Amino acid sequence: MMKLKKNKVCIKCKKVLSLDSFCKNKRYKDGLHTYCRSCNSANTKRWGLRNKKKQKEIYRRHGAKLKRQVIDAYGGECACCGISTIEFLTIDHINKNGKEHRKRFPEGWGVYRDLIRRNFPNEGYRVLCMNCNFATRYINTCPHELY
Ligand SMILES: [Zn+2]
Ligand SMILES: [Zn+2]
Ligand SMILES: [Zn+2]
Repeated sequence: MMKLKKNKVCIKCKKVLSLDSFCKNKRYKDGLHTYCRSCNSANTKRWGLRNKKKQKEIYRRHGAKLKRQVIDAYGGECACCGISTIEFLTIDHINKNGKEHRKRFPEGWGVYRDLIRRNFPNEGYRVLCMNCNFATRYINTCPHELY
């Protein structure tokens, strides 16, 4: 009797639906998914979204840890104005090969990881805040040094 059943209840939306409303899935006894197609796709989407967020969070935290390590190793404050708020600080490439460096390590904190791996080379790197970094990039001398 059970085998002749043409409908199946979706365990998610509890609707009784025809069998072709369910995706095939070998993991289940009847060879069909327990969720109907629409519940299934909604679920997958949600899971993907949640996962992406989580991935981002892990990525951000990992990056922040690496950054802290590198910034501290290079003095922990802006070499120009002395600000020590980590969010404002970046690693400046004195010899201006920052773009090159970043190209080799496109994932952002790859630069930090590289510096850690190379045991913080003294030459060519310093800590600058965003302001000073930005200023020196365009006019070579930070306004802090002019006034
Ligand atoms: Zn459903
Ligand atoms: Zn600064
Ligand atoms: Zn400055």
